[in-house]
Amino acid sequence: MGRDSVQFQCHHCGHCCTEVVCLPTPWDVVRIVRDTGFNPYDFLEFLTPDEITGVDEGDPSWLSVGGERYMMALRRDAKGCFFLDKKTRYCSIYESRPILCRLYPFKLEETRDGAFKGFSLHTDVGCPRNRDGKVETAPLYALYLEDSGHHSDYDDLVEVFNRDAYSGKKPEDFIELFVEVPKKHRKRHEKGEVSPKLAIRE
Ligand code: SF4
Ligand code: SF4
Repeated sequence: MGRDSVQFQCHHCGHCCTEVVCLPTPWDVVRIVRDTGFNPYDFLEFLTPDEITGVDEGDPSWLSVGGERYMMALRRDAKGCFFLDKKTRYCSIYESRPILCRLYPFKLEETRDGAFKGFSLHTDVGCPRNRDGKVETAPLYALYLEDSGHHSDYDDLVEVFNRDAYSGKKPEDFIELFVEVPKKHRKRHEKGEVSPKLAIRE
C-alpha cells in the first residue's frame, strides 16, 4: 500500500483554470451536460497542434479531420476556462468538473513493477504547490483508475471517428458520438448565439 496522504492545499490562485488547457474525456462531457444542461458545442473547442503544447503527436486522442489533427478541450478565452466564474474566480461546475481538474496538480507515483506508491505534486505545471494541507491519496487513486478506464474507451471512440470519412466532416461531429444534441442547439452555436440549457432526460 502506498503513502496514504500528500501534503498540499489549493490556495485558489486560479492558475490551473486560466493558464492550463483542460482536456476532458467524453465521460466528463456527458457528466457536465447531465448535471448542468450546458450545450457541449458551447463549452468545448477543438485545438490544432499549434494551439496546445505537451500532447505527443502519437497521442491516441487526436481527432483526424481532412489531414489535420484536433484535440477536444474545454473552451477558454483570455480570462480562462468557460466554467471559471470570472467574478469569484472559482469553478462554477465544481461538483461536476472533469477528472483531470480533480487530479491537478497531483502526479501518480508507482513502483518499478507498477504498484501504487502514492502521489507527489507535479513540478512543471505552474501550481505554487502550497504544502500547508493534507490530501488523502486513496480517493485520488480511485479517480486516477476511473480516468484511465475512460481514456481507454475514449481512444476507441476516436478510432471509430477517425475511420469515418465523409464530405463536410468537422471535429465538432465527434460530440455526436457520445451526446445527443438537438439540431437547433447546434444551429444556435453555429450562428454564435448562446444556447439555452438542454432539457436533461434522466
Ligand atoms: S472545469 Fe472548473 S476546475 Fe476545470 S479548468 Fe474549468 S473552471 Fe477550472
Ligand atoms: S494552480 Fe494550484 S493553488 Fe492554484 S488554483 Fe490550481 S490547484 Fe489551486
